[in-house]
Amino acid sequence: MSMKIPAYGARAANAPLEPLEIERRKPGLHDIKIEILYCGICHSDLHKVSDDWGGTHFPLVPGHEIVGRVASHGASAARFREGDHVGVGCIVDSCRVCPECRAGHEMFCEKGVTFTFDSFDQTTKTWTQGGYSRKIVVDERYVLRVPKGLDPTGAAPLMCAGITTYSPLRHFGCKSGDHVAVVGFGGLGHMTVKLAASMGAEITVLSTSRDKERDSSRLGAKHFVATKEPGALDALQGRFNLIVDTVSAPHDLNQLMALLRSYGTMVLLGLPPTTTGATPINASSLIFGNKRLAGSNIGGIQETQEMLDYCGKKGVIADVEVIRAEQINEAYKRMQRGDVRYRFVIDASSLEG
Ligand code: NAP
Ligand code: ZN
Ligand code: ZN
Repeated sequence: MSMKIPAYGARAANAPLEPLEIERRKPGLHDIKIEILYCGICHSDLHKVSDDWGGTHFPLVPGHEIVGRVASHGASAARFREGDHVGVGCIVDSCRVCPECRAGHEMFCEKGVTFTFDSFDQTTKTWTQGGYSRKIVVDERYVLRVPKGLDPTGAAPLMCAGITTYSPLRHFGCKSGDHVAVVGFGGLGHMTVKLAASMGAEITVLSTSRDKERDSSRLGAKHFVATKEPGALDALQGRFNLIVDTVSAPHDLNQLMALLRSYGTMVLLGLPPTTTGATPINASSLIFGNKRLAGSNIGGIQETQEMLDYCGKKGVIADVEVIRAEQINEAYKRMQRGDVRYRFVIDASSLEG
């Protein structure tokens, strides 16, 4: 038994997104049926539609930054009431019992996590379809509570961009007075600035777009460096405790490692296309200064709720540009050229024409 839901997606790799109809399962005992209000556009959506990482299944409805309203819930689902504002991020299912799931790291579930889109759904035996749609059905264990008072448009990007940046800032102990560099000032980059500023760090934005300087200081960065200008990095050698790299395209990591102080860490969040080849890293970039190169993948359900509650207390949300579904292709083009201020969010009511 299933329901037909209006959505927007791509029928093939690199095809423009267009209206599509998808099927959702009828809510089971533990499920929440959510009327989607807003869905953010993450650069991962664009990588997937472009098949940058290989293996995308089409037709594909992207979207994992969902905020909606509870429309109904299964008889055994007790965590939410009709009308509650809820979120769905990157994860909609996992085995729940393996050591990773028990530790709250569902994204690394040993039996295989089910992501919100383009992931094999163990219940329906089909590929999941994401948030560029009007409704979604999700087990209540993976549904997040959106704190009251957070604007739903600005809260939607917290479901991916928020947790993906909060998690490494916490893990690497970002604290007051730390020198933190944020490389790439887009969706993830601007959330890193807001969150690191809320933790008291002294932030430097490294950007290819000179015209983002004013926004970077408005959001809490103290310094701005336009990386394309000759000699721009010279004065920054050995400066940072932590570098958060959110760049979506291949770039020189050795050059950035030189900006770390000794015992500093550079954490990679950006996932450039694998089709364009790996970025080499010199052993000397790490060895001289006992530096660490790390990666960080989204965050588990419990930590995502912790991040939402933190943002609720601090009043942190994304800076968004709300668009209608028919503007998605233009938004993708702008995202491709780095012209994002600082997250596109789809008004899901526009999916109904
Ligand atoms: P975004 O909004 O498009 O921001 C990426 C920024 O990177 C751009 O705004 C631009 O900033 C900079 N940039 C782009 N191309 C560049 C180039 N060739 N050289 C230097 N800088 C460049 O993307 P996003 O949504 O923040 O996502 C960023 C990356 O993180 C994507 O690869 C995405 O797939 C990945 N991601 C990873 C996770 C995870 O779990 N680790 C989660 C979500 C997303 P400036 O204009 O400031 O230069
Ligand atoms: Zn994402
Ligand atoms: Zn598991």
